[in-house]
Amino acid sequence: MRSNPSDYEMVAPGSLHAIVSLLAKEPGVWVPIAGGTDVMVQYAAGKLSARKLVSIWSLPELRRIEVTASEIRIGAACTYSDLRKHEIVGSEFPLLQSAARWTGGIANQNRGTIGGNIVNASPAADSLPALLVYGSELILVSVRGERRLPYASFHTGYKKTLLATDELLQAVCLPRRFSGYFTHARKVGARNAQAISKVCIAALGRTADGVVEDVRIALGSVAPVPLRLTETEQTVRGQAIDSELLLLARKAVTAEIRPIDDIRSTARYRAAVTGNLVAEFLNRLISERVGTEGERGNAVLARWNRLPMDEAMQAILPCCGSKAWVQGMVARRPFADEATLLAASNETWRNLTRSDWMEAFHSHPRIGESRPLQSSSAQSVEWSAQEQRNVGDAEATVRIALVDANREYEQRFNRVFIVCATGKSAPEILEILRRRLKNDAETDLHEAAEQQRQITEIRLRKWLHG
Ligand SMILES: Cc1cc2nc3c(=O)[nH]c(=O)nc-3n(C[C@H](O)[C@H](O)[C@H](O)COP(=O)(O)OP(=O)(O)OC[C@H]3O[C@@H](n4cnc5c(N)ncnc54)[C@H](O)[C@@H]3O)c2cc1C
Repeated sequence: MRSNPSDYEMVAPGSLHAIVSLLAKEPGVWVPIAGGTDVMVQYAAGKLSARKLVSIWSLPELRRIEVTASEIRIGAACTYSDLRKHEIVGSEFPLLQSAARWTGGIANQNRGTIGGNIVNASPAADSLPALLVYGSELILVSVRGERRLPYASFHTGYKKTLLATDELLQAVCLPRRFSGYFTHARKVGARNAQAISKVCIAALGRTADGVVEDVRIALGSVAPVPLRLTETEQTVRGQAIDSELLLLARKAVTAEIRPIDDIRSTARYRAAVTGNLVAEFLNRLISERVGTEGERGNAVLARWNRLPMDEAMQAILPCCGSKAWVQGMVARRPFADEATLLAASNETWRNLTRSDWMEAFHSHPRIGESRPLQSSSAQSVEWSAQEQRNVGDAEATVRIALVDANREYEQRFNRVFIVCATGKSAPEILEILRRRLKNDAETDLHEAAEQQRQITEIRLRKWLHG
């Protein structure tokens, strides 16, 4: 049914205090209108239930973007055009800028606001996955004062939010701690602009030594609310990206999303596309690293290929403390690239004797300690400290438990406990150690050897890429 203009009333009190007072006087009766790009669509369709609208469009408190040393605070009534033009949004929050660029056409971007997108609470809204991965917080204001809450908790169900009927969204705050991260945003729709997403993704990540150090992934249109893929992130964090991990990530994605059939797409299509989008992000995350660091890696390798044997052995000894492994690798030179070097390392390691393995194990310090059990290079000691950096920050109870479990392990297996500690927290390492204590000797030896293989691979990458 068409709306009749005379049934509606709109006021613009012009001050924040006057507006929140009006909302408090008749909660739920007055409904804020910012750019109106969602409200007017509802009005035109005869679906706008509110009869009294209060304009917040020109409130200065809601129209500014403030930058402090730790965060950027974006007023709720800032438009997509404001976001597109802002220097810090462009340089430090590219995922938000991309979303602003592809939200509707220019006219819509001049009028539509970030606050409207948040409160309208559509699971398909384009800016919301970016807000999730950037760990943003919202400031809500009413006559009762301000409250600040994580944006991740704001959407409680389809089109439901924690906004009280007498509250306004005043600002969204993004911490300035993600510059330097690799970012990836994609919108899958009938076309890029002027189309609601079938699926959209915002993701960021950082790798170190070929391993995913940090990763944050969020999606639109795959659940009743914009969704952060925390389980998938957990699967990927601390791992090297290879085809096996991509498979695991896809499985984790499928388990986490809850897509539906609607007029824009089917649940099946959305699930398939989502898996592809996450895999695409992870592939780009790793190839970006290879792209920037590859040249340096090739130069290190080319130099090493030409070194006299003794010097070549000294150069890679910190990667694995087994002399037989070192000799095997040096004998197999020259290597054309990183991939062939890593493949040769894996093969050499697997063909070693048990005593060679033990020699490598004992070049590491115990988890929680800094000195290796047998003499080791300064570089190896430094890398061990980096690999175990989470253990140093752990609570005293966990560190004490690790000391006890290490002792028990050594009594049981007669060797130091070996785990690839990169990216693992101290409680995770403790859990692995306790589980491994239940292994029989043969199973655990092979598990330790596999952990050492992973450590060597990470160290070889570190050696190549610095
Ligand atoms: C042609 C067209 C294309 C579009 N394309 C896209 C697109 O590609 N991607 C996308 O995500 N969206 C798209 N949209 C939707 C819309 O533009 C966005 O959701 C926009 O951000 C809404 O902002 P607004 O200021 O216009 O909200 P309004 O329509 O003014 O308000 C929307 C809702 O939010 C509430 N509200 C607004 N601001 C506040 C506040 N500060 N405090 C409390 N409540 C508030 C209102 O009461 C209302 O319920 C499109 C819309 C149109 C008409």
